[in-house]
Amino acid sequence: MSTPNTPSAAPVPRVPMISTADALATLLAAAQPLTETETLSTFDALNRVLADEVVSPLDVPPMNTSAMDGYAVRVADLAQGGRRLPVSQRIPAGHAPQPLAAGTAARIFTGASVPPGADAVVMQEQTESADGEVTILHNPKAGEWITAQGADIKKDSVILPVGTRLSPAALGLAASVGCATLTVARRVKVAVFFTGDELTMPGEPLKPGAIYNSNRFTLTGLLRNLGCEVTDYGIVPDRLDVTRQTLRDAAATHDLILTSGGVSVGEEDHVKPAVEAEGRIDMWQIAMKPGKPLAFGAVRRPQGTTAGASASGEAFFIGLPGNPVSSFVTFLLFVRPFLLRLAGVAHVSPRALSLRADFSQNKADRRNEFLRARINQAGGLDLFSNQSSAVLTSTVWGDGIIDNPPNHAISAGETVRFIPFTELLY
Ligand code: AMP
Ligand code: MG
Repeated sequence: MSTPNTPSAAPVPRVPMISTADALATLLAAAQPLTETETLSTFDALNRVLADEVVSPLDVPPMNTSAMDGYAVRVADLAQGGRRLPVSQRIPAGHAPQPLAAGTAARIFTGASVPPGADAVVMQEQTESADGEVTILHNPKAGEWITAQGADIKKDSVILPVGTRLSPAALGLAASVGCATLTVARRVKVAVFFTGDELTMPGEPLKPGAIYNSNRFTLTGLLRNLGCEVTDYGIVPDRLDVTRQTLRDAAATHDLILTSGGVSVGEEDHVKPAVEAEGRIDMWQIAMKPGKPLAFGAVRRPQGTTAGASASGEAFFIGLPGNPVSSFVTFLLFVRPFLLRLAGVAHVSPRALSLRADFSQNKADRRNEFLRARINQAGGLDLFSNQSSAVLTSTVWGDGIIDNPPNHAISAGETVRFIPFTELLY
């Protein structure tokens, strides 16, 4: 019989695991988009987040244009049997045409304005020209090889809404309506540091018991891909005072402090107590594999040091587990959408594919598994042979991750939810 007063007899309270969906919902609820904006040259706005919609001041194309090198004609002239027409003008791209005289053709080039009166372009391969005349060897339909004014974009239409991440294609679209500058959200400022006395930087010899700090490369790369302004504090030793000091320094001028390692509950894990002393923290045991422990909270800013970061009195804190695959996967699933939401991105969920599993995983796990997998030649999925959270090779071998729900074994041939890395790394 257990005696409630005897500490050794009391059951150790198990922190209940929360679901990946609940963890993500909590993070996103906290991430209010930053309000500060800046106006940049369209050239410099790559990967930034649009803060003002782009409305087109014009039709694109602004006039009817020829889609081919050939001859602009009136379809009615050809219907009357006149297949041999005098060439009345020559219209290179960038030159204003004269109206097309009836019973004539205009020599025209790709991108040139179709002359008023012409209603089709016959490609030059379907013509023969000699002595200032052209023989049309084809019966065009009205509108043939003409790109109509406004076929791409109508004047006054919204071509890029607020919250768009500016891809190269989006910059091209903005430029196509003459947009020379774009108003974007300011970059999210992220401080990052890495805990662990075993960590060594590449270029330095590896002492016994040490490992290289791979997370520094993975996480700073991911942050840069997302367009964040990154301050890399490097390796912070496993000591409470130094960890607290680094948190205080980082909180002054950053929106988010991101850390790797030290969020378990061993006595060498100083991040949790340091954040608790400098702010507040929720430690979550997320029902996921890899990546169980994740810490979320905030660090107070020193008085009067909000310049350059959001006006709030604290910086967000997210502590990732140290295992390389765990920190990678938890970044992709939680930090990425959190940062995108802070930056004002409208759609932060990655798009998943339904693909066939060409493998079996007979053992169901009670946690939500994120399995590194690759798309094979047959369009199905192969699983990386070692799914350990320490085996970083899986993250490069794979094309993405299978989101396998809790308590679910996978049979070969079954359709699974696959999130490609292209949806997660940028
Ligand atoms: P921790 O979360 O600090 O308990 O670390 C868990 C595991 O991840 C340990 O095996 C660490 O050595 C390893 N680890 C921690 N930080 C890093 C890092 N920055 N790069 C590579 N491995 C790490
Ligand atoms: Mg550690």
